[in-house]
Amino acid sequence: MCGIVGYIGTKQAYPILIKGLRRLEYRGYDSAGVAMIGQSGSLNVYKTKGKVDNLTDYCTDKDISGCIGIAHTRWATHGEPSARNAHPHYSQSHNLAIIHNGIIENYADIKSRLQEKGVTFASDTDTEVLVQLVEYIMSSKNLTLLEAVQTALYQVIGAYAIAILDKRDPHQIIAARKQSPLVVGIGEGEFFLGSDASPIIEYTDKVVYLEDGNIAVIRLGEELKVMSIHGEEQALQVKKVDIDLGQIEKGGYPHFMLKEIFEQPECLTNCMRGRINVEGNQVTLSAMIDHHQKLLKAKRIVIVACGTSWHAGLIGKQLIESLCRIPCEVEYASEFRYRNPVVTKDDVVIAISQSGETADTLAAIQLAKERGAFIYGICNAIGSSIPRATDTGTYIHVGPEIGVASTKAFTGQVTVLSMLALCLADKLGTITKEEYQLMVSELTRIPKKMERALQANEQIKHLAMIFTYAKNCLYLGRGYNYPVALEGALKLKEISYIHAEGYPAAEMKHGPIALIDSEMPVFVIATRDRLYEKVISNIQEVRARGGRVTALVTAGDELISQYADHVIELPDTLECFQPLIASIPLQLLAYHIAVCKGKDVDRPRNLAKSVTVE
Ligand code: GLU
Repeated sequence: MCGIVGYIGTKQAYPILIKGLRRLEYRGYDSAGVAMIGQSGSLNVYKTKGKVDNLTDYCTDKDISGCIGIAHTRWATHGEPSARNAHPHYSQSHNLAIIHNGIIENYADIKSRLQEKGVTFASDTDTEVLVQLVEYIMSSKNLTLLEAVQTALYQVIGAYAIAILDKRDPHQIIAARKQSPLVVGIGEGEFFLGSDASPIIEYTDKVVYLEDGNIAVIRLGEELKVMSIHGEEQALQVKKVDIDLGQIEKGGYPHFMLKEIFEQPECLTNCMRGRINVEGNQVTLSAMIDHHQKLLKAKRIVIVACGTSWHAGLIGKQLIESLCRIPCEVEYASEFRYRNPVVTKDDVVIAISQSGETADTLAAIQLAKERGAFIYGICNAIGSSIPRATDTGTYIHVGPEIGVASTKAFTGQVTVLSMLALCLADKLGTITKEEYQLMVSELTRIPKKMERALQANEQIKHLAMIFTYAKNCLYLGRGYNYPVALEGALKLKEISYIHAEGYPAAEMKHGPIALIDSEMPVFVIATRDRLYEKVISNIQEVRARGGRVTALVTAGDELISQYADHVIELPDTLECFQPLIASIPLQLLAYHIAVCKGKDVDRPRNLAKSVTVE
């Protein structure tokens, strides 16, 4: 969850580390810290609670010299967010400093063993155990840092991306990973380290993504060396990253979230580029070409995901079942992995994750793999762990998503699921050629329709003021719009901290209707589709109990305005693609309500962008 940055070269490390931390702050931000080996040879660690700005304020009168350093933004798993628990952590002698992303599961065990040997601890974290263990092994067995790290990692159960400095060897960083991402950037006579490529790309486009169980020895003036935990040297797989820096900056918007909401038409165009042939109205996914036998023979499809990706999965289920007639289930990855599910070699498991690093989804993939299922990944972050763990898959190609509340990744995931369902249905013959052509051509029109949906921004901005003081909100939808209601409620919870629930509109009378009063805003997605009349009845049920209804309606609808307090018009589209349009006003609504409340939209409390812990 956290951010890792490292630098070794001839430049001053501190500015590079701080800039890198700012790029990574979206991943976790309850505290931040840096460690550098200064000009005088001392290993200086500075860390503060809160955001990177607090750290830079703290460092104004400190010795920030040195051309080698590591830095971290934390998302606490063990030990409260505080300066003391922030990373980097010193070893007892202050010779070593470590930063860590992940969880050391057997930390309590190792800690008590070390305490028996007289080691004293300065924090409550699992991370400190690792640096103390490395130091203990180094001194008691007289080993080098590299050997000690190898030995220590043998004893560790858990997930980690780590980087360690040793003040006695100011030309080396040792880094290692297991189940947490780590990237080494190779520059001219300098190296960079990052938990993803974003802090590196401004300096070099040559990177090495460390594999699970790999240790990197990064030495100034030498070639990068990557080895397995057993010490076997690994062939270097140098990749070229082509993320443009502008893509990860705000581009004139006040928040990344707003930028990302407005980017969606372009993102979906990119997502479909090269996959939909507009003239021929044909969808081609390379995964389908290479693995169509496996996919077409699926007896069942199981979608595993978490959070917003799970909502995209619910839409995927409806697409797959109605277009392809293949039974499809959607599971929370965190539940699936622990409940001994029935999975067979005839199943296809689709794993959805924006970051490609979601720990529960990775574990669900592992389990499904062991049971012989064929695994298909739908991710955004190129080269991340999930695409590497799956048999095949499709990137959503929406560019880096920085806002913690996912927006463009959601619509990108739904677009890929739509393309996949269309490909499968066409090959299986479960829809007619005419239906297929009609849907494919409509999908290509979605970006333009999204642009029209975005024009409601000003209207929504005004509406948001009305709802700023709401304590609870209800979101209702049916069919394809039910997951949109869930996603709308989740967005509001995430960034404005207003309690919100999404419900299938007809289920309301089985409980939630009791909550309705004039204080409770109710947002209803009531587009003109098969269930239109039914949703109107549901709106009337709310109105009859004094509820205040804001309805998302198809442009030109005159009926619903008679019953609703407010209406937001949406361009018409096919029912199955409605989520791609209807989610936009709900994203904007959550955004503007959070802004009215003065919340930190891009960095909501308690959340982190990629959930690499279970
Ligand atoms: N488990 C470590 C801690 O709580 C690392 C958390 C992180 O990944 O930021 O400090």
